[in-house]
Amino acid sequence: MRLFVDCITATEQARLNEAYQGYKSDPQLFNGIKEYLASLMAQDLIPSPALPGDFSRCKQIQNKVYKIFLRSKFDEHLSETVNTRINKMVSPLVPEIQDSDMQNAFQIMRGFHGHDSIRIMKTWSHAWCTSDRYSETVILPCLFGCVGAIDKQAHYIMCPYMYTLQSFMWTDEVSADPLARLALKDTSCSNLKLVACTFSGYHNLKFNHAARFHPGGDLDPTVELPGHALKLFRGSFANVFRAEAMELGLNTRRFDPDAFNSFVSGQSAINDVATPLALPSPEV
Ligand SMILES: [Zn+2]
Repeated sequence: MRLFVDCITATEQARLNEAYQGYKSDPQLFNGIKEYLASLMAQDLIPSPALPGDFSRCKQIQNKVYKIFLRSKFDEHLSETVNTRINKMVSPLVPEIQDSDMQNAFQIMRGFHGHDSIRIMKTWSHAWCTSDRYSETVILPCLFGCVGAIDKQAHYIMCPYMYTLQSFMWTDEVSADPLARLALKDTSCSNLKLVACTFSGYHNLKFNHAARFHPGGDLDPTVELPGHALKLFRGSFANVFRAEAMELGLNTRRFDPDAFNSFVSGQSAINDVATPLALPSPEV
């Protein structure tokens, strides 16, 4: 049987094959998937013994896999894991994450779709696909326009431009405190959704425009982004952010570059907006 079609790259084929085989190279995921297959067999939802990847009779698979994934990957030490990852991300700053806020967040997320919870967990786990995290051949600059800052999640959670874009797009007030923007302080259903929408906005922007900084592209990662690129990048982030926010029932504004510039200049100064988010200078 021909398993793959021509439009799937060799890398994607390898990933699909790995998934089909039950992630044998990752013991935590492999054990989680084994547990899941056993539970499906017990419910007679798949034939026993199960073939790898045979989930055709199983409904709501993403939600079920998400729960197993969380348990197998993070065990019962989820709060501790999130705390460690956030602390590492914002070092040398030391955030004070209250366990009550985190437990409240987990409780709210139980009502979310798996896809939304995964976007939040990936943010808290320092798992954005930035060029810095993947040590890509070309390390991109901050895609929102900070001069001297690189494409790195530790920067983005404090990036004054990303914060201003969120504030412009969302009709509710966006907190100046990065921990609240991560929904790890004053946690609410809305600021958790903000995290999920921001995740999508960034990844769409990165995947659609990263190649422009590569050899032969029209942008140089070592020089300040030109105005036309900034306009395009901010618009790209904002449009996906808005689409996701509308899907989740959040009120947003339509992005307009001129209105955004007026919004920025109407505030005292964009750098002041970042207060008290002073960037950890050795890291950016
Ligand atoms: Zn920035």
